[in-house]
Amino acid sequence: MNARPDDEKFMRRAYLQAHKGYSDGGCPIGAVLVAGPSGAVLGEGHNMLVQEGNPILHGEMSALRAAGRMKNRHESVLYTTLQPCFMCAGTIAQFGIPRVVIGDTANAGSDETIVFLRARGVEVTVLDPAQSAAAADCVKLAAAFRAEKPDLWLEDWGGGPNPAQNIEKNAARPIC
Ligand SMILES: [Zn+2]
Repeated sequence: MNARPDDEKFMRRAYLQAHKGYSDGGCPIGAVLVAGPSGAVLGEGHNMLVQEGNPILHGEMSALRAAGRMKNRHESVLYTTLQPCFMCAGTIAQFGIPRVVIGDTANAGSDETIVFLRARGVEVTVLDPAQSAAAADCVKLAAAFRAEKPDLWLEDWGGGPNPAQNIEKNAARPIC
């Protein structure tokens, strides 16, 4: 849906970041921040929960950290291998990033962060794994990791819903 010619190339790059994180024993989620007009890569990275012991360095946050200081990010595009969690979706909204391209929604628990982002005026493109080899690889890698290290997946997600909070039953939350 509304995919553009460069999307496959940048999603492949995000996937390579995810795979690098996986090879290091970490959570396989990668992201790339690209300058919209020029297509220049501004920053890229992967989840660093294991590598840095940092629970807020999700793939998207890692790419934003690598990109560093910017006056604004109003013409950028963020590629992420997995559907953003609320922390990352909140950052995308806060920084005014106008477009997000997602490789994998199959391993996310719900579409609520996509709904959130679209409500904030963010263009969200979900690549179809039947059309995009990079997206298919994102789905495959995250699924393999979930099967191999379910505890780490859950930890990265924040530990699961807090039973003390009044969260609807079965309201799964996506992670990234
Ligand atoms: Zn996140």
